[in-house]
Amino acid sequence: MIIDCAVIGGGPAGLNAALVLGRSRRKTILFDDNKPRNAVTSHSHGFITRDGINPQELKRIAQEELRQYPDVRILKQRVELINKDNDLFQVKTEAGEVYHAKKIILATGFKETLPDIAKVKEFYGKSLFSCPFCDGWELRDRPLAVIAEGQKAFHMAKVVSNWTNDLIIFTNGRKGLSADEKELLISKGIGFNDKKITALIGKEGILERIQLEDDSEILRQGGFIAADWKPAASFESSLGYTLNELKGIETDSWNRTSAKGVFACGDTKIAGPSQLIIAAGEGSMAAIAVNAELIEEKFNQEEKTAL
Ligand SMILES: Cc1cc2nc3c(=O)[nH]c(=O)nc-3n(C[C@H](O)[C@H](O)[C@H](O)COP(=O)(O)OP(=O)(O)OC[C@H]3O[C@@H](n4cnc5c(N)ncnc54)[C@H](O)[C@@H]3O)c2cc1C
Repeated sequence: MIIDCAVIGGGPAGLNAALVLGRSRRKTILFDDNKPRNAVTSHSHGFITRDGINPQELKRIAQEELRQYPDVRILKQRVELINKDNDLFQVKTEAGEVYHAKKIILATGFKETLPDIAKVKEFYGKSLFSCPFCDGWELRDRPLAVIAEGQKAFHMAKVVSNWTNDLIIFTNGRKGLSADEKELLISKGIGFNDKKITALIGKEGILERIQLEDDSEILRQGGFIAADWKPAASFESSLGYTLNELKGIETDSWNRTSAKGVFACGDTKIAGPSQLIIAAGEGSMAAIAVNAELIEEKFNQEEKTAL
């Protein structure tokens, strides 16, 4: 059987793409291995009607909604390989199954590498976060840390200062801020510490103190941390799409990649703020663009046959 669209990744981007495709009567398979990066957190904020929802619950509701649409199937498998053979894509899963699709939507999210600080993962998603627009409200008015270096530290500190007047930047032994930047931040009441972090201290993921290489400890009740990001799955070598300057998948405003028939949406583009509602909206846009192409192809084909 040839399906209309294979959606790779079942986070909010892929789920919303599958919803719009199902409602458009497109034969769709949504492949998901359920390893989203927000699995470390229990509350997601900023999604209207869903503010504060557990992210796995959001996923469960979305999957339940998809069951109403008979053309959508969810396969809980990782996609290992995608090839193109003439106009059709071959999608191969980790179980060795092969599916044939006219279009591909990549919604695989990204993987992040946190700074090399002992036990940082115990705190990430509980009191240390990456996005102040997602979790700044919960940490408002507390003594907070920004753990980052260089330009990321400068930018993040300016943004986080919106939620607290008690903010210290920790560069963890690295440099990168210019004297002018430091002076500007200090003039706004933002502290600066460039000693190496030796321990994060707290209970059950809630940060209480940051210990530094000189054994001093600084009281902090949470904060924001800069991570490195890269797409969670790469099909670049077989599909030949181009990447943007941040190494995410480049698309146009309709979420078309440079590879014909391949679309990308959500975090995997690494192109802007990383939020559930943005990812879901992008999934919708990609699905509408897939529909538009399939309709054009159908009508062009019918015109040629009539001639
Ligand atoms: C700690 C933390 C807190 C956050 N808090 C918030 C918040 O409060 N509010 C908010 O709006 N956003 C929040 N976010 C961001 C939000 O989680 C992301 O923006 C959103 O999940 C992106 O959706 P996505 O569908 O693009 O990717 P993801 O949600 O990452 O989903 C991608 C899916 O694709 C799957 N996948 C990857 N590769 C393959 C493959 N080869 N085959 C099959 N499946 C594959 C993954 O397993 C995953 O299930 C938070 C993120 C983190 C890390």
